[in-house]
Amino acid sequence: MVGVKGTSWGNFPRAQQTVRRIDWPGEAVLEGKGTLLPYGYGRSYGDSCLNDGGTLLDVTGSERLIAFDPASGVVRAEAGVSLEQLLAFAVPRGWFLPVTPGTKYVSLGGAVANDIHGKNHHRAGTFGRHVRAFELLRSDGTRLVCSPTQNPGLFRATVGGLGLTGLIVWVELVLRPITSALIDSESIKFANLDEFFALSAESDARFEYTVAWVDCAAQGERLGRGLYLCGNHASGPGPLYASPPPRLAAPFNAPDFALNRWTIQAFNALYYGKQRRKVAEKRVHYEGFFYPLDAVGAWNRIYGARGFLQYQFALPYTGDAGLTKEIFARIAASKLGSFLAVLKMFGDLPSPGLLSFPLPGVTLALDFPNEGARTFALLEELDGIIRENGGRVYPAKDARMSAASFKTFYPEWRRFAEYIDPRFSSSFWRRVTQEAVGDE
Ligand SMILES: Cc1cc2nc3c(=O)[nH]c(=O)nc-3n(C[C@H](O)[C@H](O)[C@H](O)COP(=O)(O)OP(=O)(O)OC[C@H]3O[C@@H](n4cnc5c(N)ncnc54)[C@H](O)[C@@H]3O)c2cc1C
Repeated sequence: MVGVKGTSWGNFPRAQQTVRRIDWPGEAVLEGKGTLLPYGYGRSYGDSCLNDGGTLLDVTGSERLIAFDPASGVVRAEAGVSLEQLLAFAVPRGWFLPVTPGTKYVSLGGAVANDIHGKNHHRAGTFGRHVRAFELLRSDGTRLVCSPTQNPGLFRATVGGLGLTGLIVWVELVLRPITSALIDSESIKFANLDEFFALSAESDARFEYTVAWVDCAAQGERLGRGLYLCGNHASGPGPLYASPPPRLAAPFNAPDFALNRWTIQAFNALYYGKQRRKVAEKRVHYEGFFYPLDAVGAWNRIYGARGFLQYQFALPYTGDAGLTKEIFARIAASKLGSFLAVLKMFGDLPSPGLLSFPLPGVTLALDFPNEGARTFALLEELDGIIRENGGRVYPAKDARMSAASFKTFYPEWRRFAEYIDPRFSSSFWRRVTQEAVGDE
């Protein structure tokens, strides 16, 4: 599996820390001095999975399946088990993940700690809604089973709790039944944001999975044009095989000049122009539908040594597309480009975590090559719009939000802080809480 231990997916910021591998999560892993932070596959983009000056507890060696009930689809597995491993076990038996992100190289512990969401948020809510229980190892050696009814406060703090409440040892998850590994998908071209919102209103009822790819470089009348991708698990008996291994990997960091606004515009035009018909229907394997980027291996390296920043926000949506258009217009006008922009409507199923990210409304995720001060200034400007309009930025993708923004986005942060394990900390947490004096 690709990935460099002790880095995050955006390759920014860099941190100096000790990485301690865990094959069996006993008390011994908590020995020693200094701060601790669990670490999965480093698929968080910014610094929420980094612990500069401290220790990362790499859980990926803790990857045993503990129990499975073929009648109910309830599975219990160690927290280092990846979604890829779980799919390899579950799909041939007719079960699928209840919620999946855009990569399968994510650990169960990481999925809980960021309370991740997927293309079915409007139907299934977040990952944490499907977690029946987990065991948490605290630094004083206590082990606590947490569920919505057992230690419920710690359950709500740990789901979306950014690894700060202790080490998740195992997770018990309810899978979703399938009769085929195939997805009946539709890809629909839309010319602008108004068309996107109209398509969402109509398709979210027909499809379990919906998401849109948007050309962030397009301006004027084409602002917000893109492809709307939706799908359902194919019904009736079909093949039940899991994903093949990745074919390609970017072998080294691309030179910094390889990505600039011209190459990004060209990429966007090509992607959008590739589909000639308004609607394209296909029956595809789930691998291509959910994880197209996994086929490229370490694609994050194409951004070069300076790394990149991903920015994802969620904003309440009340039927007026004006604010979303304004944000798109600012991004396009900044010419800072975005290689990938993913737009989706979140549903209104409540998330279980105190710091869970999703809220009912619209969410947009964008990649920005790290161009230094200009990139940071734009993202701070966008934060201001999100703050003023009751939205949030996703900590799993963040490397730079201010303490003031974090506290506005996550008003439950104080209640959450009561559950933090005294020895656990992260670069992210120190950054968003240390300016506490006079900042609230
Ligand atoms: C290509 C790509 C697509 C993505 N798509 C989505 C998406 O659609 N939706 C979405 O929500 N996210 C998405 N993400 C983000 C990703 O799903 C999350 O960042 C996920 O949490 C990463 O899991 P990980 O195992 O790599 O954990 P890491 O990134 O290593 O760690 C994430 C957090 O989990 C904590 N943690 C890890 N293991 C444990 C444990 N055993 N106990 C306690 N805490 C633990 C860490 O301390 C850290 O705070 C995407 C990322 C990539 C690279």
